Amino acid sequence: MAKHSNTAGLTRLNIILAAVIVVLLVLLIVVSGQKRRAQEESSREEAVASREEVSLEESVEESIPESRTESVPEANSQEESSEAAESSVEEVSEVSEEESHGPDLTDWRLILVNGRHPLPEDFEPGEMVDIGDNEVLDVRAAEHYFEMRAAIEQAGYSLYVDSAYRSRERQASFWEARIRENIDKGLTREEAEREAASWVAPPGYSEHETGLTLDISTGDPEGRFREEVRAWLREHCAEYGFILRYPEGKEHITGAAFEPWHFRYVGVEAAREIMDNGLTLEEYLGDVPEE
Ligand SMILES: [Zn+2]
Repeated sequence: MAKHSNTAGLTRLNIILAAVIVVLLVLLIVVSGQKRRAQEESSREEAVASREEVSLEESVEESIPESRTESVPEANSQEESSEAAESSVEEVSEVSEEESHGPDLTDWRLILVNGRHPLPEDFEPGEMVDIGDNEVLDVRAAEHYFEMRAAIEQAGYSLYVDSAYRSRERQASFWEARIRENIDKGLTREEAEREAASWVAPPGYSEHETGLTLDISTGDPEGRFREEVRAWLREHCAEYGFILRYPEGKEHITGAAFEPWHFRYVGVEAAREIMDNGLTLEEYLGDVPEE
């Protein structure tokens, strides 16, 4: 009997234990389900929060890109390029387009006239204006020349313009005069022309016919300060949109002898690029003669 009652007690105990285990399991399932829901909820909240952050960043970026590109015009620094990588793809491609765009060859200020490029047949010079010294210049370049002249006068020097705009006829008479001079020295016509070509362009091939060119010398009647004036012009001409058109050592590119007096208006942007980097107009425009 005792054995029987023992067995009965064990069975009851087993039932109770099983019930407790079931209850525990149910509790475990419920608790873990709640925990999972709580985790899902918090990660949803995180996702929402980070989306909000992103859109906040985007709206901040949208409101400032103009000021940023203005303050850093060349997107070359590492900081700028990593910033660009973070921002949208369109912005990146805009930056690289800005970097790769070359000079605008249709810009009237960049007309190329040299021994290989005569003035176009239909070339019409702009409106000319008196700049003193019995010379006229394209009014669009003259206003910048006046500013440059005022600045050099402030620096204590003065300018004299030997030659500015030349009509086709005037250029032809310059050309013929130089050749006659050479023939008088005993050269043949062919030799005389070859010598003249380094100094005076034949009619149709002279930059002076554009009305954008100036031969400048010192305004001092005794020729004093010539070197100082030339040095000042080389240093400051680009600020007014002018370049030293025939620099020393670039004769094989320009086809012209070094002329420290000959300046050409090309606009400030091109002038700075050319003068800061020791270029010629030919190099700037990517029009260099083959060796
Ligand atoms: Zn000249």
